[in-house]
Amino acid sequence: MTWRRLLSRALAAMTGPRPVVLTGPSGAGKSTLLKKLMKDYENVFGFSVSHTTRQPRPGEVNGKDYHFVTREEMQKEVSAGGFIEHAEFSGNMYGTSKAAVQAVQAQNLICILDVDMQGVKNLKKTDLHPIYISVQPPSIETLEKRLRDRQTETEESLQKRLNAACIDMELSKEPGLFDLIIINNDLEEAYSKLKAILAEEIQKAQESTKS
Ligand code: ADP
Ligand code: 5GP
Repeated sequence: MTWRRLLSRALAAMTGPRPVVLTGPSGAGKSTLLKKLMKDYENVFGFSVSHTTRQPRPGEVNGKDYHFVTREEMQKEVSAGGFIEHAEFSGNMYGTSKAAVQAVQAQNLICILDVDMQGVKNLKKTDLHPIYISVQPPSIETLEKRLRDRQTETEESLQKRLNAACIDMELSKEPGLFDLIIINNDLEEAYSKLKAILAEEIQKAQESTKS
């Protein structure tokens, strides 16, 4: 075991279960995978509900999928120091509030964060020490098809997301940036890989709820 791993274990023991960051291009399958995980392990994981200034998609629930806010509201809360990290993505603001993470950690659940690449870079500067997992599409063409089939984006938003995806996939090549990169081709295979890397944390969380 490397000293890094030993150190992160020691920190985890002091601060409770290690959070998990899911990142990767929009449309790669992060929400699909994390919803499966939260459904299969209801009392193990809790989602850090981010703030965003984008409009809700059909079916998205305020306070569950995101806290949907105006740019003014969000800027005010950011200035007040309420955010761990925040970023501009595809013309909208997104951010993780301190309260969102604390709400999950207060229940002793493993906190899952879904953030973009800027979020990853900024979280690396904090003392959160999460497990970093990147979910990637098998190709840009597949990503485009998934985003089109999802029918949630305008043509303009779709193009912005594809541009961001190309940058994201280039930056993701940086060695050591992630604990795991999952290529989400077959969903069940991708889900198995996600469960495998989290197995130890899941077991710890399940044991702590038993005791
Ligand atoms: P993200 O949260 O990363 O933006 P989603 O989870 O919304 O991505 O997935 C984008 C779209 O692709 C959704 O319509 C989802 O049902 C679909 N999808 C996700 N994973 C797969 C997969 N392995 N094969 C085919 N379609 C997938
Ligand atoms: P979407 O609009 O598709 O829900 O999300 C767009 C992008 O914003 C995705 O890459 C998603 O990971 C990212 N995102 C969602 N919440 C946050 C957040 O709190 N912080 C950051 N930095 N990115 C976020």
